[in-house]
Amino acid sequence: MDIKQMVAYLASYAGSPIHLMEVCGSHTHAIQAHGIRDLLSPNIELLSGPGCPVCVTPTAYIDKLIDLSLQPNTTVVTFGDLLRVPGSKESLNEAKGRGGSVEMVYSPMNVLQLAKDNPNRIYVFAAVGFETTAPVYTVLLDNAIADGITNIRLLTALKTMPGAISYLCDNGARIDGFIAPGHVSAVTGADYFNGLAEKYHIPFAVSGFTAKELVVAIYGLVKMIENGEARVANYYTSVVETSANVIISRQLEKYFRPCDVAWRGMEIIPGSGLLLRDGYAHFDAGSADLNVDNKKNKACRCGEILMGKAKPTDCPLFGKSCTPMKPQGACMVSEEGSCFNVYLTKN
Ligand code: SF4
Ligand code: SF4
Repeated sequence: MDIKQMVAYLASYAGSPIHLMEVCGSHTHAIQAHGIRDLLSPNIELLSGPGCPVCVTPTAYIDKLIDLSLQPNTTVVTFGDLLRVPGSKESLNEAKGRGGSVEMVYSPMNVLQLAKDNPNRIYVFAAVGFETTAPVYTVLLDNAIADGITNIRLLTALKTMPGAISYLCDNGARIDGFIAPGHVSAVTGADYFNGLAEKYHIPFAVSGFTAKELVVAIYGLVKMIENGEARVANYYTSVVETSANVIISRQLEKYFRPCDVAWRGMEIIPGSGLLLRDGYAHFDAGSADLNVDNKKNKACRCGEILMGKAKPTDCPLFGKSCTPMKPQGACMVSEEGSCFNVYLTKN
């Protein structure tokens, strides 16, 4: 079947309602940018999952970064997105306004030069991310160790996907199939999701990020659902192998161990986080147990949005007191966030 026929099939699909979730912030962004939702029959709904690292970081983590930024001789180094995420009281940007020392960088590697240039200052890198980004921090640490740099710390909020997917399935999220995270799969291999497909009897489609790749994956999922199949199909074979990248897996194993961790808007999910191993504790800025998640604005519905139980427009704050310039919840901050994406399309 060619792509035109797939699009025609998906547009005219009249079977039982199907809810598909993309678990990758970059997919959320690509789906919105390519107008994929407009191609689908009303009976096929796409939901955005917990695939944006900024959005799933609990408020205790932001509060800790703020504390660190206000300590003497300490600078917090971060990507831009994290600056505007609300903590329980304020954002890192607001803390910066009252004297917090915060530097924005485009790559974690930039922290090496900062630390070399100012050996009397401690540089704390805000290390958020999933299976995809965690390996970058291992390279940063490799370099710091090789260069004898001792004034770098990581405040980690690293997460792994399977626990979150299990949590969604165990807690009543309405999902019939998953568009598996493409970048994560490039590191972990497609087989990573086999156990989940089997346990929850739900199909997974590993997809790339172009409009065509997404249509192929969505078509594949709809067909698997119609046929009662619950397996992992890899539609991104140009990038994703069947099994994990051995070198990256060794690096992760060397530096990190699994831990229980809170996902913003959800709960503590056992084994779904990564913490530095004891042998590297001198690089850690106090990352354990940052699991409290007090909302800044109680009306924010990010948690339900993450679980596919509500849409951004269901939130009473959407587009009113919550906008990308003044986000009340994390989903409005990052360009991978569903509230941000829906806001952009509507405006
Ligand atoms: S619109 Fe804002 S407050 Fe509402 S769910 Fe989205 S991010 Fe949270
Ligand atoms: S913005 Fe919120 S809902 Fe969207 S991907 Fe990030 S965490 Fe998920």
